[in-house]
Amino acid sequence: MKKAVVCGAGGFIGGHLVERLKKEGFWVRGVDIKQHEFRETAADEFLQLDLRKPESCGEAVLVDGQPVDEVYQLAADMGGMGFIHSAECEIMHNSLLINTYMSHAAASHGVPRYLFSSSACVYRDQQPDEPDLTEDDAYPAQPDNEYGWEKLYSERVALAYQRNQGMTVRVARFQNCYGPYGTWNGGREKAPAAMCRKIAAVEDGGTIEVWGDGTAMRVFTYVDDLVDGIYTLMRSSIAQPTNIGSDERISVNDLVALVAEVAGKTVGIRHVDGPVGVHARNHSSARIRELGWTDRHTLRDGIAKTYPWVKEQTEQAMARGDEV
Ligand code: NAD
Repeated sequence: MKKAVVCGAGGFIGGHLVERLKKEGFWVRGVDIKQHEFRETAADEFLQLDLRKPESCGEAVLVDGQPVDEVYQLAADMGGMGFIHSAECEIMHNSLLINTYMSHAAASHGVPRYLFSSSACVYRDQQPDEPDLTEDDAYPAQPDNEYGWEKLYSERVALAYQRNQGMTVRVARFQNCYGPYGTWNGGREKAPAAMCRKIAAVEDGGTIEVWGDGTAMRVFTYVDDLVDGIYTLMRSSIAQPTNIGSDERISVNDLVALVAEVAGKTVGIRHVDGPVGVHARNHSSARIRELGWTDRHTLRDGIAKTYPWVKEQTEQAMARGDEV
């Protein structure tokens, strides 16, 4: 039985990835600084470790003194735009330590395959009518925020270990991802979860606040499709960074309308100042599609699976008297 380690297994995408690897027949160890907030882990073993420490990274990748077959590095200090713009030092410090020590530990202990979770935030801002950015367009580098710079640097760290120490490295640049069991409140949530929460909390005919003027264009990928891309890329021979994401584009205002429709509510928008991020970012998914990968969920399908879960969380929190 092949052994895999998922770092960040206590988080949103890592939790879903553990489930997928179990279905594929792997023995799976989940690693995270915390347990999953919203569900029991599906992993065979869960180690609570702080991966900012080099010795924890070594412990993470060895089972009975032997390296595991595959490491998926998804641990990061991260969140949506609100968090990214308010926690620059935490992101630069914590995620950089995790990625530097994890790449080193995996390579020096002889892990054969390592996947690093990068982000579409490595790309510069775009005009809405510009052609899609391909992976090579990450250079000359001009990420919009420190989170993107950290990802770009950590890609380079992992790829240096591939070149110099013979570890097979796969670099996946994720588009915005959404789905059940992800952060939905507290400041780290991303736009789809935030819209689902706000619409679940507001009465029919009410108004919700949206940061910026709502014209920013976004792409959102349903978590099962993203995990499918991760699994496909890890098995591929693509040694360069690879975008994983849907091609379906939507403005923030239209996202609100879509969530409201799924919720069966009429909702107005009040635009307020807030961290919006880039105006548009359309990245090409041609490279991953060449492997036969495709996104199976339209945004409507994915929101229809996500909204009920966020609604349940929101209603439970409101019943407890918590602020949502
Ligand atoms: P998440 O915050 O839900 O999961 C990240 C996990 O890393 C968390 O459970 C957290 O506890 C863990 N972690 C943080 N510091 C740690 C430490 N010191 N030691 C051990 N674990 C630690 O985020 P996610 O949405 O599941 O994202 C997973 C990966 O994908 C991250 O690398 C993220 O940057 C990347 N990514 C996510 C998206 C998205 O839309 N969700 C988009 C692009 C890239």
